[in-house]
Amino acid sequence: MPDRLVKPLFYARDDPTLKTSQNWPLLQRLGPPTSLRLRARIDNVTNLAQTPLSDRLRSLVDTVQHNERTLRRFQNVELRLIGAQDFTSFLDTLFSHLPREFSLASVVLWLDDRAPMLLELLEPGALHALDQANLRTSREGGLAAQGLCDAGRPWLGKLNELDEMARRAFFGDVDTPASAILLPLAASDTASGYLCLCSDDPARFAEGMATDILERFASIVTASLDNVAHRERLKQLGMTDSLTGLANRRYFDERLREEIMRAVRYGVPVACLFIDIDNFKLINDTYGHQTGDRALAAVAACVRQQVRLGDTVARYGGEEFTALLQGDRADALTVAERVRQAVEKLDLQDDHGERIALTVSVGVAARTITGTPAEAAVHGHAMIEEADRAMYRAKRNGRNRIEALVQAASNSAAR
Ligand code: GH3
Ligand code: MG
Ligand code: MG
Repeated sequence: MPDRLVKPLFYARDDPTLKTSQNWPLLQRLGPPTSLRLRARIDNVTNLAQTPLSDRLRSLVDTVQHNERTLRRFQNVELRLIGAQDFTSFLDTLFSHLPREFSLASVVLWLDDRAPMLLELLEPGALHALDQANLRTSREGGLAAQGLCDAGRPWLGKLNELDEMARRAFFGDVDTPASAILLPLAASDTASGYLCLCSDDPARFAEGMATDILERFASIVTASLDNVAHRERLKQLGMTDSLTGLANRRYFDERLREEIMRAVRYGVPVACLFIDIDNFKLINDTYGHQTGDRALAAVAACVRQQVRLGDTVARYGGEEFTALLQGDRADALTVAERVRQAVEKLDLQDDHGERIALTVSVGVAARTITGTPAEAAVHGHAMIEEADRAMYRAKRNGRNRIEALVQAASNSAAR
C-alpha cells in the first residue's frame, strides 16, 4: 500500500496532495550511489506499519541528509557559474564540473546565436576557438528543443522514444544518451538556449518527475550566461576599468539606457547608487598612492559582492562608483546600507599590517518611469544626477551615511 514516505518516488507534477519532498524523485536520481541504496531501502519499507520506528526514523534522516548533500553539490556548481569571469570557465563548469558532480553522461548546451547578447560570443570564429563539441547553435537543434519543451516547460524522458529527426537535430548522430532532461534557458518568454543533462541510465529522467530544482538551476544558468556575456562584451569593447575589474563609465551609461528601456517596457522600478569613498585623498596622502589603489580595488570588490548578479556596478570616476539596480527605492536603500556596512568592515591593511579604516557616502535614487522609451536617456541621467546630489548631501551630513532626496513633483514622466 503506498504511503507518504514512498509516494514522492511516484510523484507526478500536478499531484496537489503532495506537500513535502517535491523534489524527491530527481534528487534521488541525481546522486546515483546513495540513490540506489535508498531506493532499495524504500522499497523495503513500503509497508510502514510493519517497520520498527527506529528504522523509519533512520530512513527519514537518511533522506534528509541525502537531499542536503545534493543541494550542496548544486550550490557548488551554481557558485562557480555565478562567479565565472569568462565564457570559457562558464562552459567548463557546465561541461566538466556538472557531469562529474552528478554522474551525468554528458551535458549539451544549445544557444541561439541570434540573441543580441550572444552574437559576439557565438560568431563562427569565436566558436571555432572555443572548440566545444557540446556547445551547439544549429537552427534545427533549437527548433527540435523548442518542439520538445512544450510551452517553455522542461522535457524529460528516454531518447530512443523520440522522433529520429528531433534526436539527430539536437544530439547529432553520435553518442545519443539513454535518457535526458531538456531545460529551456529563458529570462522572459523566449528561450535563448536549452540545457540538456544526459544520462546512460534510461530510467534516470522520466516523465512525471518533479523538475523544480532543475528549473531553478536553469534560471541560474540563464542569469550567469547573461552575466558572462556582459563581461565578455565589456572586454571586447574596452569598457572595463583595469584597476578594479569593474565596468567603466562608458559602459555604465550604455547599460543605464538599456535598463531604463527595460523598466519602461515592463513597468518595473529601477534604482541607482552613487558611492564615493570618504576622505580618500587622505588615504593617498597617508599611505601612498599604491595602497590607495589597493583600497580602491577592495572597495570595488566589496560593492560588487553586495548587489545581485544582474545589477551593474561601475567605476564612475576616481574614487566614485555607481550601481544600477533592479528594484525600487526601498530595495536600493537596503542595498546601500549593506554596501556602507560592508565597506566599514573591510579589513584592509597598510604595509606595516595596520588596519586602514574606509567608509563611503552613498546617494540613492529610484524611478518607475511611465514615459516613452525615447525619453529613457533623459530619465536615466536625471536619476544619476539625483543620486549624485544625494551623495553630496551625505557628505555634508557627516559622511559614512546614506541619503535619498525627496523626489521633485514636477518630474511628470516619472513617479
Ligand atoms: P570626500 O570625502 O569629500 O569625497 O573627500 P575625498 O578626499 O575622497 O575627495 P577628493 O575629491 O578631494 O579626492 C579624491 C581623491 O581620489 C583624489 C585623487 O588623487 C584620488 N584618486 C582618484 N583616482 C585614483 C586612483 O586611481 N588611485 C588612487 N590611489 N587615488 C585616486
Ligand atoms: Mg569624489
Ligand atoms: Mg571621496
